[in-house]
Amino acid sequence: MFNINPFQQPGQWYRGNTHTHSTESDGKLPIAERFAAYRERGYDFLVLTDHRKVNDVRRYSTSDFLAISGSEVHPQNPYGGATYHIVAINIHEPVNCAKMHPNAVLDDIKAQGGEAVLCHPYWCGHTISDFLPLRGYFAVEVYNDTCMGIGKGFAEQAWDDLLDRGGPVFGIAADDAHGITHDCFHGWVMVKSPDLTLENIMAALRTGAFYSTLGPEISDININHVDKEITVKCSSAQSIVFKAECHSGRRVLAPEGEGLTEAAYQVPEAAKYVRVEITDETGKKAWSNPFFFSL
Ligand SMILES: [Zn+2]
Ligand SMILES: [Zn+2]
Repeated sequence: MFNINPFQQPGQWYRGNTHTHSTESDGKLPIAERFAAYRERGYDFLVLTDHRKVNDVRRYSTSDFLAISGSEVHPQNPYGGATYHIVAINIHEPVNCAKMHPNAVLDDIKAQGGEAVLCHPYWCGHTISDFLPLRGYFAVEVYNDTCMGIGKGFAEQAWDDLLDRGGPVFGIAADDAHGITHDCFHGWVMVKSPDLTLENIMAALRTGAFYSTLGPEISDININHVDKEITVKCSSAQSIVFKAECHSGRRVLAPEGEGLTEAAYQVPEAAKYVRVEITDETGKKAWSNPFFFSL
């Protein structure tokens, strides 16, 4: 296995949202109120990602809350599809994206110490042909809450296509909050980190030490390398699904009228990766990052 397993790492879980707008672009709340709203809902960190803008948000950090500056940038798409929506986490200067190739935009984000997320592929109509030429992003939004306004918030297939035909990439659930309540506090990441410093939260994101959720909790994932078995423990679920490439995987369903809190999967000998998806009784989901067995 090539990446770390956050469930077996020391540290604490920190709840965060990586995609948010304010009145600096098309959001409904001013920056200070946006940060206050997330802090009051129990979030540990929030990334402000106004379209094409970057604001210095350090003043909104406290001892138990981390404000991270970022941006949502929109390079044109030379590969036939619609303009890209790319969230840059932890950048400090605007990216002049209108005139730049998307890979130059991704390079700029990296050069600033940031990390890039491919946003809401389903809503954009993006397919693997739009994404395969890109280099240097670390994650794709597997869920985007504001895109549920047209029912196109889930992007599990886009994530799996990238895993199968691109390379290692993590999955992020985010609000993409624009409004005051309707697209807020519904999708987030749980990040395992030794503390709430910017440096360690970024390191945890970069290495995939997190899972994404709309509510369900994943309490443990263990990989037995001798038996090649992956075991997951979680809050009460209706299904636990193990997804590997293409037609490989397994779905475990709860017995009728009961909840499921544990399941196991024998990892196929040729598996490149396995990721875990939980669905609870109300249809809410959680997604582990993939565990990579070969690259
Ligand atoms: Zn967007
Ligand atoms: Zn957005």
